[in-house]
Amino acid sequence: MKGIRGFKDILPGEVEKWQYVESEGRRVFGLFGFLELRIPLLEKTELFARSIGESTDIVGKEMYTFPDRDGDSLTLRPEATTSIMRAYLEHGLDVKEPVGKYYFIGPMFRYERPQKGRYRQFHQIDAEILGVQEPQADAELLVMLMRFLGGLALQNLNLQINSLGDPACRGPYREEIQKFLRSKSEKLCEDCQRRLETNPLRVFDCKKEECQAQLAGAPVVLDFLCPDCRRHFERVKGLLDELRLPYAVNPRMVRGLDYYTRTAFEVVAGDLGAQNAVCGGGRYDGLAEEIGGPSVPAIGFAIGVERLVMLLPEEKNYLRYPDVFIAALGEEAQRKGFALAQELRDAGVWVELDYEGKSLKSQMRKAGRFKTPWVVILGEEELKKDRAVLRNMATKAQEEVALEEVIKRVKTESRET
Ligand code: ATP
Ligand code: MG
Repeated sequence: MKGIRGFKDILPGEVEKWQYVESEGRRVFGLFGFLELRIPLLEKTELFARSIGESTDIVGKEMYTFPDRDGDSLTLRPEATTSIMRAYLEHGLDVKEPVGKYYFIGPMFRYERPQKGRYRQFHQIDAEILGVQEPQADAELLVMLMRFLGGLALQNLNLQINSLGDPACRGPYREEIQKFLRSKSEKLCEDCQRRLETNPLRVFDCKKEECQAQLAGAPVVLDFLCPDCRRHFERVKGLLDELRLPYAVNPRMVRGLDYYTRTAFEVVAGDLGAQNAVCGGGRYDGLAEEIGGPSVPAIGFAIGVERLVMLLPEEKNYLRYPDVFIAALGEEAQRKGFALAQELRDAGVWVELDYEGKSLKSQMRKAGRFKTPWVVILGEEELKKDRAVLRNMATKAQEEVALEEVIKRVKTESRET
């Protein structure tokens, strides 16, 4: 039997990179005051349909949707933002503490064509600031994002920002872009011909080259911003400039979800090929109302962990190794070794040992594979004197020490190597 297409196992050797990325995320987000909020895997389908938008790819063709046993339509979460907003409103967090800063790390599900950097179960690191309308929130979130990615020593990253305006600026823009696109209608793909009527902004997000070619000279929403949206965008850019955070304005970047307003952004990696977006995000001031709540201005991002892990520098070693290997010779020594291993573990030392009573040579080979800096050799002769041989694997120096000394020595010296 094999696993399902687009669903991956993450094995030891690879998983250490994931642990590193996740713990760095928790550390950096903690410095900015973000708290973890864990959301469920399943939500009512309607929640995503209403927030992400019926005419988007995610809702239109990518969701894992199925009827529950009692007929309710449920969906495996394709993203985290909507659920975090739902939880924030459902638990009255907006009343208790209007400014909420939350993060979440976990798998998402989208029925897409599996390829490099694109899976059906993939993972996101998600952060959201809820309840703040001011451009400071946009800037702070972007600074946190780039500090986190920069701290992982990722190279060739580009932060692209845009403003998508709000419903007030989009009305007049919609007419202009529709006029423009209708004149090119026959040259657009079938999806875009439909998008042009239902949600013309979506055409910018089409991955087909024919459609992108038709967009040359198309009006962009950035040129239609109302005074408030324009001020907001200028302020965000001003704050980023003050902090010397590099970015590029990309007026043709729209996002694949309907709920975005004003600031939208992506982090694109030069080294990723076709699936080059490591992170996407933006402001979504209308989302809370869309799902039946009060007005809650908010902004967030989602990082794709698979793509992030692919970008980690190869030179760095993410693996950890045991502190000590116990090589025991003979039955009595094995018994002692087994007890000593538990004592060492109780003292916080990572111990490996041989289970099979193999020869010293074979046990030393095993210690080599584990790359432990220390080996404790328990032989019958030494045990008679309550002593053991401690071998430094780097220098190959060996010395005899009292058994009760072993813990102390290994504990302090393994911390030094
Ligand atoms: P793309 O344009 O690559 O389809 P998207 O706009 O659908 O991305 P978002 O919904 O904004 O992506 O999700 C944020 C991030 O999650 C993306 O930038 C990407 O890194 C990652 N991501 C999205 N879909 C997948 C997937 N199917 N497999 C792996 N990572 C994904
Ligand atoms: Mg997508």
